[in-house]
Amino acid sequence: MITVTGKPVCAGVAFGPVFVFSREESAVKRRHVESSEDEIARFEDARKKAVSELDILYNKAIAEVGEANAMIFRIHQMMLEDLDYTESVKNIITDQLLNAETAVAQTCDNFVQMFRSMDDSYMRERSADVKDVSERIIKILSGKDKNGIISDEPIIIIADDLAPSETVQFDKEKILAFVTEGGSTHSHTAILARMMNIPAMIGAQGALSAEFNGKNAIVDGFTGTIYIEPDEETVKKMTAKKREIERQAALLEKLRGKASVTKDGQRIELCANIGSLLDIAGVLKNDAEGIGLFRSEFLYLESRDYPSEDVQFGVYKEVLSRMNNKRVIIRTLDIGGDKQANYFHIPREENPALGIRAIRFCLQRPDIFKTQLRALYRASVFGNLSVMFPMIVSEWEVLKVLEIIDEVKRELNEEGIMYAKNIELGCMIETPAAAVISDILSKHLDFFSIGTNDLTQYTLAADRQNPDMSFFCNEHHTAILRLINTVTENAHKNGAWVGICGELAADTELTELFLAMGIDELSVIPSYILPLRKKITETDVSAIKDMVLSKYLI
Ligand code: PEP
Ligand code: MG
Repeated sequence: MITVTGKPVCAGVAFGPVFVFSREESAVKRRHVESSEDEIARFEDARKKAVSELDILYNKAIAEVGEANAMIFRIHQMMLEDLDYTESVKNIITDQLLNAETAVAQTCDNFVQMFRSMDDSYMRERSADVKDVSERIIKILSGKDKNGIISDEPIIIIADDLAPSETVQFDKEKILAFVTEGGSTHSHTAILARMMNIPAMIGAQGALSAEFNGKNAIVDGFTGTIYIEPDEETVKKMTAKKREIERQAALLEKLRGKASVTKDGQRIELCANIGSLLDIAGVLKNDAEGIGLFRSEFLYLESRDYPSEDVQFGVYKEVLSRMNNKRVIIRTLDIGGDKQANYFHIPREENPALGIRAIRFCLQRPDIFKTQLRALYRASVFGNLSVMFPMIVSEWEVLKVLEIIDEVKRELNEEGIMYAKNIELGCMIETPAAAVISDILSKHLDFFSIGTNDLTQYTLAADRQNPDMSFFCNEHHTAILRLINTVTENAHKNGAWVGICGELAADTELTELFLAMGIDELSVIPSYILPLRKKITETDVSAIKDMVLSKYLI
């Protein structure tokens, strides 16, 4: 047995085979071939295999995200049947005696250029699809699909580190646990692991070794330990631990359907954070009272090009409909920092966390921002929508956002498109600046949602991505707790309500403090809802209020 320890990121115990994740080389190796017939046959086999993979994905997507969103896989299949495309590949193989991978890559480039030069925005967006289907065939041709995401067997992933864009593309049902050598507890990948409620650990130095591929392992997400080829005693111990978790979960079940009210009658809303439609099942299962944070940027990270207004509309409509009139707060695009996608072409920055991210990007690119706002407003008639804006530091940003929203509403009115008239607007409090001027900001907005992950990073000048900074990223620091209190007081003075949607919201050590401050809402990863409700229903705020306020705010 080999034991590797690191830091726990998401609790739970997982048993299963290891899959060592290595990034694929994207470069296609150009090769001359002897026989064009053999190469065309290779291409044809790969094409057929791609079509049947897309069938699997289509059926899976129908179940998870609905038919409209699953259609993309049918479109991809049609592209693979397209004669212009297939003939082009075969001609390159025959005329230039090149290998199939190169012929597909060249055909892809030609088609992408052709689509990109079209006037129609729908056709321009198809360039991303051509790239996607071409990469699928190239992976099959080069045998990399076997290492890919489509795996029949659930696996424990070991990687050096995972970018959020990589994490979101994994087939969540096939992942038993995440283990990374790098990473930090506050990174978005760690957040995603928690969101998926998958046992996860980081800093597992020595775990990334190809020789572990396929070996049986156990991940203990409570202690941050992976046991490779565990001995009998460890298997016994871990099996007992897993049973105990299941027993605790059954006890929490009793809190489903109950209100989140303290012993002395103080109510707090318990909502869920999500990153995609796939997370809604967990939201409903854990009995969340609404969605307090939908990180809409994951929709962009999952795509190879800007998601169109219609694609976004479909997603927002679905989340609103499935939440059945419970409040859904969708945060507008928070790209930048560690959340990067190539097609945004954000120039390389020395300090991306202090650079063009979130609302700064959106105000620089109002075309992209307006596309999202239009989709949101169009979807608003299907449920109870609130919209919030990330990384605000100044009043002018809020005023500019409100001006753009007025423009969007004017356009929709002119086009005769309906939207809800009561959409609540709020902003994230993620910077000390926003917290300090929250009295000014609250005059323009209905609510605040405090993003303690970034508020901690920016207040304590400690990079949330850097594992060596975890000691300094102390979310219990008096400065953070005082800022939360200031924001709450300022908001309440001006009739706005306040939630917390950063990871700190789930910290049951501070639940009493948040109740004492009068926080109106906590938004957490779905699996934390019931444990938090348990804590709330066991608390008598009037009895502890003065004590906790003086203990933490000093
Ligand atoms: C936060 O900063 O606390 C937050 C909720 O946003 P994110 O983690 O997506 O940056
Ligand atoms: Mg943030």
